[in-house]
Amino acid sequence: MESIWKLGSRGVAEHPSLTEDSEVDVAIIGAGITGLTAALALAEAGQRVMVLEAATVGAGVTGGSTGNLYATLASGQAPLRRKWGDEVAADVVRARAEAVDHIEVTIERLGIECQFKRQPAYRLSTEDRQHARHDLNEELDALVSAGLDAEMAESPGLPFDSWGIRIANQAQFNPLHYVEGLANRLQGEGAVIVQHSPVREVDPGKGIVRTDEASVAAKHIVQATHTPKGINLVQAGMLVSREYAVSAKLRSGEYPEGIIWVLDPFHSLRRYQYGEGEYLMVIGEKHKTGEHHGDHYQKLREYLETHFDVEAFTHGWSAQQYSSPDGLPYIGRMHSHDNLYMATGFAADGLVWGTLAGLIISDQILERDNPWHAHFGARRITPGKSALQYAKENVTVTKHMVKDYLGIEKLETFDGIEPGQARVATVDGEKLAIHRTETGELKVLSAVCPHMKCIVHWNPSESTWDCPCHGSRFDTDGEVIEGPAYHPLAQPEGRA
Ligand SMILES: Cc1cc2nc3c(=O)[nH]c(=O)nc-3n(C[C@H](O)[C@H](O)[C@H](O)COP(=O)(O)OP(=O)(O)OC[C@H]3O[C@@H](n4cnc5c(N)ncnc54)[C@H](O)[C@@H]3O)c2cc1C
Repeated sequence: MESIWKLGSRGVAEHPSLTEDSEVDVAIIGAGITGLTAALALAEAGQRVMVLEAATVGAGVTGGSTGNLYATLASGQAPLRRKWGDEVAADVVRARAEAVDHIEVTIERLGIECQFKRQPAYRLSTEDRQHARHDLNEELDALVSAGLDAEMAESPGLPFDSWGIRIANQAQFNPLHYVEGLANRLQGEGAVIVQHSPVREVDPGKGIVRTDEASVAAKHIVQATHTPKGINLVQAGMLVSREYAVSAKLRSGEYPEGIIWVLDPFHSLRRYQYGEGEYLMVIGEKHKTGEHHGDHYQKLREYLETHFDVEAFTHGWSAQQYSSPDGLPYIGRMHSHDNLYMATGFAADGLVWGTLAGLIISDQILERDNPWHAHFGARRITPGKSALQYAKENVTVTKHMVKDYLGIEKLETFDGIEPGQARVATVDGEKLAIHRTETGELKVLSAVCPHMKCIVHWNPSESTWDCPCHGSRFDTDGEVIEGPAYHPLAQPEGRA
């Protein structure tokens, strides 16, 4: 399924895959908003830059996001204030507002057509007003104390009863068109972008990045891959979730304007206009990766049909989030090596965090001061603020290790697996991920995730194998789609 942002996508000028060894100042892995923001800042400062992308520009979560740009966090300003206090909560808002301004200025400077528009953001409750008042008052107080222009407001024309908070002067754009614009400009700056070139190994000691075909020698290596590849301590405390999106055209009624977060349960609504076409999208149905429950797309379609006069559904897509245990992202130099950088833990707010990360990392490489680095450093340790989530996520991993290894059914033959079905089973002592395509072709892979040896689970909404431990995901041929795994699911010898 395709995201709505592909509408009118002009793509990027042809970027071949990596076929020859080369040498640069900075190798950036990942052509999402983080990698391309860093690449542009570095290339404009005269660095020789190569961006290595496993798929295509923007094909990761950037191209599957909602395209909302805001200074607060979608999870709320009040929880952030409670955890970190007034000063850090206000700095988060200042840093993120600067990043939104940077996006606006970049769009203007480079003439990127990506429908950027300043818009208010709404946090709305549908519950009984008396009941919701306390939480909304606390949230409003936190927003105002962090310097945002916020007030209580009625629903912005939604066809159901809702009220809450309006935050002025946030923004929306088409995230895919934006990063395609950055990529096209990068070429003009002499940077190299290679697509369809998954990186399989990073050797920071030697300053080498390897794909299947060739190697790149670099003084600095940036893992702009949404989560660092390979095994890293930050993965132990990260909550990894998937979220789904559906868009529709309406037969009648208004398309609501602005960033709209409807609470209890959380749904994000957004209007998008491209050319003559108007669309309404809804995002929600969040669940832990690898722990799938029912048809999430269908539930979102039902949500829209309950509230709006839907004429037709047009798009459906999904994407992944990594939420850090202390609520702030990890950005910058990694523990292990001074020439290795990462950016992760963005939760649902990473278009803005990713922009900030690109700027912080490029400043670190260029040895320039950055006022925001201290709060979000990748080397920070915050046990008091993160212990609870660390403990929960480690219980999750242990639970899956034990349950999934011991609970696998044994199969003698694959005959019982019907077209469209998939199963994890032990066959002749091997743990296998077995899928029969709709046309009857049998695809058999190892069920053991190459990242840290957990057992993958079938995700029927997306026809993928998802690892419940740290979020690595694989297609039905075993190739890595996203997550920390470098390598595909193994092909067991002698099996179809
Ligand atoms: C449903 C949903 C909606 C969201 N909406 C918003 C929103 O409205 N506003 C907001 O601020 N945030 C939003 N977010 C979060 C935000 O989209 C992401 O945090 C952000 O786009 C991350 O950008 P990135 O560049 O770090 O990662 P990505 O965009 O995922 O880019 C990483 C790139 O690395 C590549 N890669 C991975 N492994 C390799 C490898 N081995 N070799 C080479 N390349 C590799 C991938 O292919 C990918 O292109 C949303 C998230 C979700 C899940």
